[in-house]
Amino acid sequence: MLIDNHNRKINYLRLAVTDRCNLRCNYCMPAEGADFAKNDKLFTIDELSRLSEILVSQGIDKIRITGGEPFVRKDLMVLLRQLAKLEGLNDISVTTNATVIGPFIDELKELGILNINVSMDAINRETFEKITRRDQYDTVHNNILRLITEGFNVRINFIALEGQNTEDIIPMLELTRHFDVSVRFLEEMPFNGGSKTFDKIAWDYKRILEFVREAYPDYYKLDSPETSTSINYKIPGFKGSFGVIPSFSRTFCGSCNRLRISATGDVITCLYAKPSMNLREILRAEHSEENVKQQILKAVGSRAKTGFEAQQKYKGVFSNSMTSIGG
Ligand code: SAM
Ligand code: SF4
Repeated sequence: MLIDNHNRKINYLRLAVTDRCNLRCNYCMPAEGADFAKNDKLFTIDELSRLSEILVSQGIDKIRITGGEPFVRKDLMVLLRQLAKLEGLNDISVTTNATVIGPFIDELKELGILNINVSMDAINRETFEKITRRDQYDTVHNNILRLITEGFNVRINFIALEGQNTEDIIPMLELTRHFDVSVRFLEEMPFNGGSKTFDKIAWDYKRILEFVREAYPDYYKLDSPETSTSINYKIPGFKGSFGVIPSFSRTFCGSCNRLRISATGDVITCLYAKPSMNLREILRAEHSEENVKQQILKAVGSRAKTGFEAQQKYKGVFSNSMTSIGG
């Protein structure tokens, strides 16, 4: 079992399988000139599988596949098939923009990979296309509806962006009236590859909740797992639910159970921290299993207590992009 230096159990790995993406969401990446890693700096599918196996043997029982866009990696299903066979791994989930997931939906269902988070920051086509800088609205919309109707546990991630999409907050919530889906409103974080800097945000979780309260005064709080980053609510009579994720306000650090590994092998013990080390060459060298285990123990043993503490030590954190960290 992995226990960090603040006595928190670490059982959840967010594994980025690529830093590439077919969208250019303006809060995540610059429009042009994104600095992608060379192919040989990315883990192969076999390496991702081996790494996962080692971490599961250390107590990781939940893996979220993220990126970049995981499904732009042609061999992603090979990894997912291998993960589905891993004993001790109880939960495999994927975070995706849902642009190219279509051909894989049937197999995901067969593998029992039913927890899918989809990023969709607008219900209005024009707003969606402005934010993503691509015209994938219909595909994303159709794939979300297909995932919902096929029984997947779908959570829609919506970042509240001042001046861009906040008029879509209520229409997005209307989705939860008819569908058993969870819409989670995220605070924007300054991880956008340097395209914009800020030290405060206009739409924090409190403002989002106040805004929702004006339209639906009766919403009530749901119980959530202790390690959940979202605070969850329900509007009476609605099939689905909604939540807020205070990723900028960082109210959830005390129960953080996460470890992140980037597509190039960086071990990130906090979103706001400098990578602790890189595992790529360690995994490619001799005695990799033992050495990876040792390095992970070392990383977990020296985690910052909170995102604020991590940020104080790592001044350069905001030049990173979510496409390399994985969200
Ligand atoms: N491409 C996939 C997607 O968009 O769902 C997976 C990778 S994406 C980097 C993972 C998550 O990070 C998404 O939910 C996205 O909304 C979130 N994200 C990206 N940039 C962000 C930012 N600057 N602030 C907050 N969340 C961000
Ligand atoms: Fe791509 Fe996801 Fe970043 Fe959007 S948020 S640019 S879909 S990696």
